[in-house]
Amino acid sequence: MIPYGRQDISQADVAAVVAALTSDFITQGPAIPAFEAALKAATGAAHAVAVNSATAALHIAYLALGVGPGDLVWTVPNTFVATANAALYCGADVDFVDIDAATWNLSVPALEAKLARAEAAGRLPKLVVPVHFAGQSCDMAAIGALARRYGFRVVEDASHAIGGSCGNRPVGACEHADIAVFSFHPVKIVTTGEGGAATTNDPVLASRMARLRTHGITRDPAEMTGEPDGPWFYQQIDLGLNYRMTDLQAALGTSQMTRLAGFTAARHAIAARYDAELAGLPITLPFQAPFQHSGLHLYPILVGPGAALDRKAAFARLRGLGIGVNVLYYPVYLQPYYRARGFAPGLCPVSEDYYARTLAIPMYATLSADDQGRVIDALRQTFG
Ligand SMILES: *Cc1c(COP(=O)(O)O)cnc(C)c1O
Repeated sequence: MIPYGRQDISQADVAAVVAALTSDFITQGPAIPAFEAALKAATGAAHAVAVNSATAALHIAYLALGVGPGDLVWTVPNTFVATANAALYCGADVDFVDIDAATWNLSVPALEAKLARAEAAGRLPKLVVPVHFAGQSCDMAAIGALARRYGFRVVEDASHAIGGSCGNRPVGACEHADIAVFSFHPVKIVTTGEGGAATTNDPVLASRMARLRTHGITRDPAEMTGEPDGPWFYQQIDLGLNYRMTDLQAALGTSQMTRLAGFTAARHAIAARYDAELAGLPITLPFQAPFQHSGLHLYPILVGPGAALDRKAAFARLRGLGIGVNVLYYPVYLQPYYRARGFAPGLCPVSEDYYARTLAIPMYATLSADDQGRVIDALRQTFG
């Protein structure tokens, strides 16, 4: 089976992990700031905080922005459940904004209309979390302008989008957002096994997130309530968590980051071949908005218009041909946990239609030309 995504681990990556493993520190050592420096260099953000998952990064990002009970967080349904769950961890309420039918990202007109209604009703969101689906950046300039007008904060869920850009800035530069969050799960573009990070330009948010990842503890005398008892002294000044990344993971991440430009270029070459060779089939290929350059985590297609078989039949056919297609995402609010909180079908019709027709086809840096040829043949056999 040719999978829809997979990691690319080089001998240099292995050597970096072994070096960390046999060094003095396997956690809380120098590999963490080195990885954070690589993330700052790649994104252009002033600060980076590495943690053990993107879920953890979303949680401490929302906490650092003061999200709590009584607050409202908006995101899109076309995402992994973690984007919404992190708001519930903070005791906040969640609501969903529909996606755009062309980019499959947060719809700015839908956001604008929902904000106008929320303002009239006196219940504006504290935080909006656009998700850069499949690696394509949302329209951050437009979302940033709405944030200033309506007074909400912005966290970019950039789990799919490392290596991409928006305008002329890398994703994660936080030009139009408070914080951006990345995932380093093996299916994503860069991996640390499990891992995540938050980038920001705000030093206060950065130090809050750094404390929240390790129990709310500080060793910085400037943050303490009084003089430290001595050099051994630390104080707990927030209620934090243990979301620390190990040095083994950070060493892998730093090695992977040296290969990021190559990963992005390989993914774009694969996408260009799909774009050329799948044109003309009764499927919809991913649209790329001109203001951005995608990280290309995924290559999703839509079944139709005009296809003879539906998504379920196409999925079975392609799996039968050895193509590990996948379906991302079932709208979050349709999950039983969210339905029990009062959500019902019909809330975001574009997201529901997208889900009903989507298939993610193999997209990863090491997909060989032969294997990609097999994927293309299978798609022609299925839809031709
Ligand atoms: C993978 C993913 C997450 C969660 O990432 P983890 O590192 O597995 O916690 C969150 N949001 C999106 C959009 C994702 O794809």
